[in-house]
Amino acid sequence: MFFKIKFVAAVFILIGVVLLLAEVDETFNVYNIPYVFILIGLISLLVSLLATRKEKSLLCRIGLHKFEQVDRGREMPALFIYKCNRCGQGKKVMKAF
Ligand SMILES: [Zn+2]
Repeated sequence: MFFKIKFVAAVFILIGVVLLLAEVDETFNVYNIPYVFILIGLISLLVSLLATRKEKSLLCRIGLHKFEQVDRGREMPALFIYKCNRCGQGKKVMKAF
């Protein structure tokens, strides 16, 4: 069900952006409909993320992790290991020198 909401949210945002870029307000009087579309899309996207993700922190659920470097790759010195200090989610980053 939430997969559908995400899809609908993406479609809403897309329609809003297309309406903005197409400048349909020069032809038709659409008032703030593009912004309303984008806003509805963003809100439903946030709601679906908050409802489907399991992270404790609400910020982590919408993808705003607080990553901190915890380790470096043992075999590869260019590999940095980061961990979110709120939810513990890790990620690996390759850095070129
Ligand atoms: Zn996190």
